[in-house]
Amino acid sequence: MRNDYDYDKLREAGKVSTEALAHARKLVKEGAKLLDVAEGIEKLIKDKGCLMSFPVNISVNEQAAHYTPSHDDKTAFGANDIVKVDIGARKDDYLTDCAITIDLSGNNGKLVEASEKALETAISMVRDGVKVNSIGAAIGKVAKEYGFNPIKNLGGHGVERDELHANIFIPNYDNGDESVLNEGDVIAIEPFMTTGEGLVEDGDFVEIFQKTNNANARAQDTRKVLEHISSRHKTFPFALRWLVDEMKDISEFGIRRGITELLNMDALEAFPVLIERSNGLVSQSEKEVVVTKDSCEVITK
Ligand code: MN
Ligand code: MN
Repeated sequence: MRNDYDYDKLREAGKVSTEALAHARKLVKEGAKLLDVAEGIEKLIKDKGCLMSFPVNISVNEQAAHYTPSHDDKTAFGANDIVKVDIGARKDDYLTDCAITIDLSGNNGKLVEASEKALETAISMVRDGVKVNSIGAAIGKVAKEYGFNPIKNLGGHGVERDELHANIFIPNYDNGDESVLNEGDVIAIEPFMTTGEGLVEDGDFVEIFQKTNNANARAQDTRKVLEHISSRHKTFPFALRWLVDEMKDISEFGIRRGITELLNMDALEAFPVLIERSNGLVSQSEKEVVVTKDSCEVITK
């Protein structure tokens, strides 16, 4: 294990994340509003003494990731939706990242089962020295057995303190990368399965941003928005709706204009919704684990 890393803090965030996923299973149902579900999950995480690793992602059907409701979002779940809920809690900058898929129609059980089975298989392979492409190959094999495609341009990743997507990439197919996992590494594994071709691309909708650089904005509102982001959200991803709730002295219009200006100044990065390119349905299962000598410790259950 690494001695610069407080695994107990991570375990605490993991316990809260596990509770948040259970809460999500209760909240996601036909007719429920995405905004209420996102806020309900985020409230639970904060009530349990954690902050968010990132805004709760609630991505439906052909959306694979990065949808989070805007502050006036009226969208409700439909009877046939297949819903990915991706959650992260953070305790003193120790981050978790985990996700489940909820099938509201009951018609996409196999698609959900495929990503769950792939995750279980991948986790059973994790140990000191395992090659990331062998994990990817196993995930891809499960996809084929179920008759689906893995999403090739999404995958698992290392999780560092302060940084959600760090170092290592864990593919959902055999990409030939023979990098190995080492004891003490914190990783998230996340098989995505689809009825489509298996590639995601950026959609138009964007609500999640992250600070990347400092900038000298001239407009006062823009300066205020950047100062607020720097002090409250540091370099963690945030939702525009959070700023609307937090910054009562600036109109939503002013916040949006500030965000646009900061994007143009390269002070922010945007995370647009990711959509399966052929509009296939998508499922996702994700857990965070710590690599041990012979296996791994699952942090988010
Ligand atoms: Mn995730
Ligand atoms: Mn992840």
